[in-house]
Amino acid sequence: MDKGLKRKIIETGRRLGLPQKTVKSLLEHKAEFEFEVCLDRTKQCFKAYRIQHNSSLGPHKGGIRFHPSVSKSEVATLATLMTLKTAAIGLPLGGGKGGIAVDPRTLSKEDLEELSRNYARFIAPYIGEDKDIPAPDVNTDSSVMDWMLDEYQKATKSQTKAAFTGKSINNGGSRGRSEATGLGGYYVLERILENRNEKFPKTVAIQGLGNVGYHFAELIASNKKYKLIAVSDSVGGVYSITEKNLDPKKVMDAKLAGRSVVDFAKKNQDTKLVSNEELLTLDVDVLILAALSDAITEKNMKQCRAKYIVELANNPVSDKAHDYLTKNKVVVVPDIIANAGGVTVSYFEWLQNRQNQIWGKQKVYKKLKKYLVNATDEIHDIVSSQGISYKDAAYEVAIARIARNDGSGEQGIGK
Ligand code: GLU
Repeated sequence: MDKGLKRKIIETGRRLGLPQKTVKSLLEHKAEFEFEVCLDRTKQCFKAYRIQHNSSLGPHKGGIRFHPSVSKSEVATLATLMTLKTAAIGLPLGGGKGGIAVDPRTLSKEDLEELSRNYARFIAPYIGEDKDIPAPDVNTDSSVMDWMLDEYQKATKSQTKAAFTGKSINNGGSRGRSEATGLGGYYVLERILENRNEKFPKTVAIQGLGNVGYHFAELIASNKKYKLIAVSDSVGGVYSITEKNLDPKKVMDAKLAGRSVVDFAKKNQDTKLVSNEELLTLDVDVLILAALSDAITEKNMKQCRAKYIVELANNPVSDKAHDYLTKNKVVVVPDIIANAGGVTVSYFEWLQNRQNQIWGKQKVYKKLKKYLVNATDEIHDIVSSQGISYKDAAYEVAIARIARNDGSGEQGIGK
């Protein structure tokens, strides 16, 4: 597990006066599965993991990512963050994470399906709707979840759809799940700015234009309170010289037609190219980190000029960079609330599957907003009264809830 994360958990436990036993249980995970998944056709094999961190508040919950950088320690860090995330929001769920160390862009669709099915067959005996419920994460989507659920059902001879979330709508997925993480981050940012009596308009730059970053960009661009002036992907970024709102759809179309958002900059005179590193240091009000871990570290923290940094990805600001930035009055909106929209709608999907219900999109959005606004307010109150950072306050809420063992998701609703 990440050293910085360990340190934060220990410090929070100390501040809350918790027994050592409780803190220790959060520094370890309950179970780990380390294995290999192979492809029949090419005979290639890849390292794979599922880590179940903590289930004090309910079944383990968390995504499965396909990325070459996946390692046991990264999965352990991400599983721990899931425990803290579900607890910070007040969901009756614990934390887990999984992954395969593979670059899915090198695989054909058939290979991707085979790999997903082989992974699900291996973990099938250890997961389930009351034990551990996987979901999508980096480079995995509803098709991957559909294949995995099918394989799980065959392996366990069960019919349940609630063993995976983030499925396609026709296969028991929830309406609103695909946009949930971006939408949730938007609700959280809006609420924090409102609580801090901020003035508008605010300029925004977004690092990462995948599923999460794109949905977030659409919401920002459609609201007059913001100006989306820069976006980037793994190749590079585009910056609006005139500080006019970028149209995410047009940028995305250029990306899909070519290979990157930089193709948009090449064709539009009002814009210029920026590197990913430059985007992180632009003089904007709000910087959204929607790519991978460690975007801001000791190396570039001193160059950051944004007043608000939103961790839409998991762990994009290192521990040392977080402490430096908050000391310098930058508000870092922590991942465990900023990107909790995905797992919150996963929880709704799990409830719908178990109760044989289908909720409309508006009901999903309304409930999502309630959960996230309540959690943000609870954390903001601690920030105001104790003068600590949003991350430290979010960890306090989460760890205190785990220590009390009161995973009562519905209590938060309607408060
Ligand atoms: N992978 C997402 C996350 O990191 C969603 C997890 C879930 O829906 O269980 O929060």
